[in-house]
Amino acid sequence: MDPLATTDRPVAGHDYPADWDQFLAFFPDEAACLDYLERLSWPHGFLCPGCGEARPPWRGSRQRLVCRSCGHQTTVTAGTLFQGTRTPLRTWFAAAWLVATAEQGVSARQLARALDLGSYETAWTMLHRFRRAMVRSGRPRLEGRVELGTLPAPRPARRGGPGGAVAAIALEDRGETPGRVRMQRLPSPAAGGLAAFAGRVVEPGTLIRAVRLERWWPLAELGFMTERAPALTHLPAVEQALAGWLRGTHQGATSPAQLDWYLDEFTFRFNRRTSTHRGLLFYRLLEEAVVTPPVPYRRVVGS
Ligand SMILES: [Zn+2]
Repeated sequence: MDPLATTDRPVAGHDYPADWDQFLAFFPDEAACLDYLERLSWPHGFLCPGCGEARPPWRGSRQRLVCRSCGHQTTVTAGTLFQGTRTPLRTWFAAAWLVATAEQGVSARQLARALDLGSYETAWTMLHRFRRAMVRSGRPRLEGRVELGTLPAPRPARRGGPGGAVAAIALEDRGETPGRVRMQRLPSPAAGGLAAFAGRVVEPGTLIRAVRLERWWPLAELGFMTERAPALTHLPAVEQALAGWLRGTHQGATSPAQLDWYLDEFTFRFNRRTSTHRGLLFYRLLEEAVVTPPVPYRRVVGS
């Protein structure tokens, strides 16, 4: 196979599998997965992280790469989501395929069953690592006309404690269709947080439309024009989709601290909803995974 020509326009069947049959042909074993990760990490060929040497490295083993110039040793998985994992890469790739291509995503229970993981905890950790990778994907600010609103977060199913968290949502209005979305958990519906959220994710100069706009929100100070609307065009449908997805795929079992990760997954999917090839999402996910450092299990579970 040729090296990946460019990361801008990856091609189905060449840069990523178009379907499950191709997936099996792309990744028959661990070595094929390592090759793939190496090409994603260095699309234009190996560059030594120590000295910048561009000549192909010595290969100490399938995993270990040694710089010809300075002797710096690295591995294909170092500094990626897969660093130090005991789960085979083929299993990780299959999980990424399921996560990326299932229309509604997968829950940890579904993943454990589909991949015969034997442990709910393993599946759960894998899903959360992938969510970390989704967070990273490029985040240019929204522009044009943007609808702003909030959705009350579902209460954690098991704890049943007081809720109160809301998901702040900003959505581009492109006339006939919605554009890109950004979401973030706000600790409380207090509106100062909503304005600050807009300041982070929306380009100054943008027209912000909302049903509720309080005079004291510092939106003008942040450089926005505002318009109060009796009803928004696209936001209600996205709110409904988000609420349904949290209830359906995840049975609403989202602790407030984990809500941000679920919002990131929804955002990742929504903003790529027009991808003609589901396999492209798999490619984008792995592309992010090779530049996302691993998270210790404690930090995935905690906070
Ligand atoms: Zn070097």
